[in-house]
Amino acid sequence: MTNLLKTYNKTNVFYKIINGEIDAKIIYEDDNLLCFYDAYPKCKTHALLIPKALVVDFDDFVEACQNNPLQIADFFVKAKHIAINILGLKNYQLHTNNGAGAGQVVFHFHLHIMSNE
Ligand code: AMP
Repeated sequence: MTNLLKTYNKTNVFYKIINGEIDAKIIYEDDNLLCFYDAYPKCKTHALLIPKALVVDFDDFVEACQNNPLQIADFFVKAKHIAINILGLKNYQLHTNNGAGAGQVVFHFHLHIMSNE
């Protein structure tokens, strides 16, 4: 059941945002997570939530959390907190592209939080 973690490429733009090499409009940050506005929004409110752990995609994130699945729960609890309490949304979409064939362009796992509110 365990897969090896995927090869993480540190040239991706979200790695540079985590390290402060590139600016982002930060919405929320804690020890493990960072949330910021998408630079090219596809709807009225378009945020991206990422773990600070260096994981390539959703599959990789889940594999990396195998020994501490509460990290997965924390990620989604924070997604809800950000959407409702920080962004003030009632109706929103949560979306992730897992793999290039699914439309993933930035290979650091991210959850799109999208809404027309
Ligand atoms: P995906 O296609 O799921 O990999 O989505 C990548 C997302 O990252 C897209 O919605 C882009 O608009 C967004 N994006 C690319 N560069 C930046 C950046 N520098 N800051 C914030 N969002 C970005």
